[in-house]
Amino acid sequence: MPLAIGYAAHAADQELEYFEFDRREPTALDVEIEIAYCGVCHSDLHQVRDEWGGNTVFPCVPGHEIVGKVTRVGDKVSKFKVGDTVGVGCMVDSCGHCHSCDEGHEQYCENGFVATYNGEDKHSGGVTYGGYSNRITVTEEFVLRVSDDADLAGVAPLLCAGITTYSPLRYWGVSKGHKVGVVGLGGLGHMAVKLAKAMGAEVVLFTTSPGKVDDGKRLGADHVVISKDEDAMKAWVNSLDFILNTVAAPHNLDEYLGLLRLNGTMCLVGVPAESHPSPAVFNLIAKRRSLAGSLIGGIAETQEMLDFCAEHNITSDIELIAMDDINDAYERMLNSDVKYRFVIDMATLKQR
Ligand code: NAP
Ligand code: ZN
Repeated sequence: MPLAIGYAAHAADQELEYFEFDRREPTALDVEIEIAYCGVCHSDLHQVRDEWGGNTVFPCVPGHEIVGKVTRVGDKVSKFKVGDTVGVGCMVDSCGHCHSCDEGHEQYCENGFVATYNGEDKHSGGVTYGGYSNRITVTEEFVLRVSDDADLAGVAPLLCAGITTYSPLRYWGVSKGHKVGVVGLGGLGHMAVKLAKAMGAEVVLFTTSPGKVDDGKRLGADHVVISKDEDAMKAWVNSLDFILNTVAAPHNLDEYLGLLRLNGTMCLVGVPAESHPSPAVFNLIAKRRSLAGSLIGGIAETQEMLDFCAEHNITSDIELIAMDDINDAYERMLNSDVKYRFVIDMATLKQR
């Protein structure tokens, strides 16, 4: 079996460190990928620190914003060939026959999709290992085509931050004439601003960081509101059609629900370690508002998003880091100090 090298956490309270493990030989339907870049999602941090109900299996190799080149393909692979530029996101498999899979919503697989890391590996029976590594083997149905024209490091975050914001914006029909709020300018939030703008909406960014106002506008927000400023918040009461809330920490949802107009929806995509305080029912019934959630996106929709981004020249604003910098990057992410996605340059990962 081909040896893989990567970075893993061995316990929730330990830093990530160098780790060697096996990847499977490609089966007939597998694509083997040499990883060029991997984005750093806040979910990686939640997972390696075991903040989601104690379900992390250690050692844990995180990473689900993967781009690279195909190095080998199985006999029956028809969509990819050696040398192709490809991507892998948050899923590497699903049951393939439930109602959700049939409809192309593999992320809602009724039998549970296989997560790119910390998932149940159908082949080894063990756990899946993610993209903070030099190579990965994935069944071709879960591999995405990536354009060679764009900056590859900036494409990597589209595989999670891009699709997680694209999918709800599409599902709730965001388009020209809509006023859309985006809460939090981090990895997901900055993609939401770019995508909502490209879909034609008037975009209002809500941030806790006064230092991000200029960037918010540069990224495409028509208005930037400092969410701690009560008067500035009041100016938007009853005005927004849709809000995408990307915040990774528990906070008062009522402050945002009150900004929705009649029939407006706030969709949560942030998954904090502890739940938000329960919102006031009055805020929902007063304007028939909805509070919703959304999980990444299906494979076909991920391809649609990659093609949409290629067409609109959209990539992530990134800070490229070396593999060794990952533990510092996590601390900066916790301090909302990311502009606006860390991406690991896998050329800096060397065998020891
Ligand atoms: P991130 O880059 O760390 O961005 C989160 C942003 O939230 C921060 O930049 C900050 O923006 C804001 N924020 C942080 N702490 C806050 C606080 N205490 N109060 C208010 N705002 C705060 O994280 P990310 O990678 O975008 O991920 C965001 C969340 O989405 C995470 O919980 C992650 O696990 C989750 N996620 C969900 C899915 C899904 O499928 N639903 C997929 C991927 C990630 P400002 O400085 O602008 O306030
Ligand atoms: Zn992610």
